[in-house]
Amino acid sequence: MADQFYRDTWAEINLDAIAYNIQQIKRKLPRYSDIMAVVKANAYGHGAVDVAKEAISAGAGMLAVALLEEAEELRDAGIEVPILVFGRVSPRDVPIAVERDITLTFFQADWLREVKQLQLSQPVSLHMKWDTGMGRVGLRTEEELLAILGELEDQHAATLTGLYTHFATADEADLSYFHMQYRRFEDLLKLFKRYWDQPVVIHTGNSAASIRFPEEMQHYIRFGISLYGLYPSTVVKNEREIDLQPAFSLHTRLIHVKKIEAGESVSYGATYTAEREEWIGTIPIGYADGWTRKLQGIDVLVDGKRMPTVGRVCMDQTMIRLDKEYPVGTKVTLIGKQVEEEIEADELASWLDTINYEIPCMISARVPRIYTRR
Ligand SMILES: *Cc1c(COP(=O)(O)O)cnc(C)c1O
Repeated sequence: MADQFYRDTWAEINLDAIAYNIQQIKRKLPRYSDIMAVVKANAYGHGAVDVAKEAISAGAGMLAVALLEEAEELRDAGIEVPILVFGRVSPRDVPIAVERDITLTFFQADWLREVKQLQLSQPVSLHMKWDTGMGRVGLRTEEELLAILGELEDQHAATLTGLYTHFATADEADLSYFHMQYRRFEDLLKLFKRYWDQPVVIHTGNSAASIRFPEEMQHYIRFGISLYGLYPSTVVKNEREIDLQPAFSLHTRLIHVKKIEAGESVSYGATYTAEREEWIGTIPIGYADGWTRKLQGIDVLVDGKRMPTVGRVCMDQTMIRLDKEYPVGTKVTLIGKQVEEEIEADELASWLDTINYEIPCMISARVPRIYTRR
């Protein structure tokens, strides 16, 4: 992406909101719990480096990403706090992690055996992942745990620095599966402690678990969606356990305004036809910006009021039905606040039949991110 941009469409990232959300969760956590700011996927579309720096200065002691290249980006930006990679990194890339002081996740005895074949300048720092019911990655049985601990005894290639698990239903109303996972975790932990007496950090909770069960959290929480000011689910939102400020907003400007007559149509397929004389505005955002075609018909904010988008979303442009004539250059807000009105990421998520996590992630890299403070 070019450093300069000329277009009238941008996402604003309010860094003060990032700091605010960290302060809100910190107030709820026990004193020994630290925050791992989850900045995978370019900080859920907010911009990894800027968000990571803000999170650290607001008190997060560690960062987490999904990929080794995401961790490298943070190191390249001069960030020095510990970074954990959640995903599986191929053994052949472990020397990169050692060189850049990046902690990796592992869960397979075979993976450890391959790493032990490498000539590493220092042991790689590892967090062991336990699958207690998420069914994604992680060791599942006591046999697997014992096999891995056997491989770990010789620590010249690898140092076990942490262990963790991930909950599948921490954001739901029915918490029985969550409690089952917790018991499974505690059973494995008991066994682990019988064979391992060196210190490790433990972390289990994502945003939902840490907001709902702060007193159950161990050394770290893995704070993702709520770092960005969004609630993990409507259940958690309605419980009002924490006040959050959304960091992400999306804006554009009218680039064309015209009057059309009754019977005239707008955009591809001529799917929208005016019933009377109408003012139609054009905004320079489309599906190539992640403003997906399925958003046809959703409201945007102009002059502090809701106005519907009309006709098909094009690759680079979308049309709006205005309540009157506005000058070219008038600001249009697609996500966020204008005066008293607000369009939340949650509204787009429910329109698209998805979760709010997907909304900032889907706004493509073609939309510049501007960092602000309130
Ligand atoms: C993405 C992720 C998180 C963050 O979850 P949120 O619900 O966004 O807080 C935590 N842990 C793991 C393993 C993840 O992959």
